[in-house]
Amino acid sequence: NRKYFTKATDIAKKIIEARVKEGNVVIDATVGNGYDTVFLAKLVGETGKVYGFDIQSKAIENTKNKLTDSNLLNRVILIKDSHENIDNYVNEKVDLVIFNLGYLPGGNHEITTKPDSTIKAIEKSLGILKENGIIVLVIYHGHEMGELEKNSIEQFVKELNQKQYTVIKFEFINQINNPPLIIAIEKNL
Ligand code: SAM
Repeated sequence: NRKYFTKATDIAKKIIEARVKEGNVVIDATVGNGYDTVFLAKLVGETGKVYGFDIQSKAIENTKNKLTDSNLLNRVILIKDSHENIDNYVNEKVDLVIFNLGYLPGGNHEITTKPDSTIKAIEKSLGILKENGIIVLVIYHGHEMGELEKNSIEQFVKELNQKQYTVIKFEFINQINNPPLIIAIEKNL
């Protein structure tokens, strides 16, 4: 299949794949069922490190199991806490942070990322991003909290100084039913 403009999560992966190298330090801000965490753990290799956050025990457990099955747990630090507290756990500069926002597929839809904590987490992520480091946000705005979250994020990133950060947005503009969108931020200096 030569299709390049695939679904949002796959486009996010293409951005990640193009940038993350062996030995990098990265953060999965919402591990969920662990698909992105496994993907990142492979990319950073033996010498790299992945920090993974989620507020749900089930998510941490599912991710831990997936990593164990693939023999990748040794390079991942799983943290059961909100990503708004990233600075309590990460004391080094990072190459990339991915936020796959919303709720756990197949889980409780009430337990979802929220505008205030997401913005705090983005702010803190910007603070520990290396030069040319990237933050990737996959935003689902088809549910009520997601719509509020999308608006807060867009307002926040639009205000970022263009000398310091480059912000882009990928949107499926001819699709119905609020398809997810991607916002990515690159730190310039
Ligand atoms: N990246 C995941 C994967 O590959 O399976 C999917 C992530 S899922 C869409 C969103 C996750 O964010 C849920 O597991 C939810 O528990 C988590 N979450 C919600 N609020 C959070 C917060 N404040 N901090 C960290 N994780 C949070």
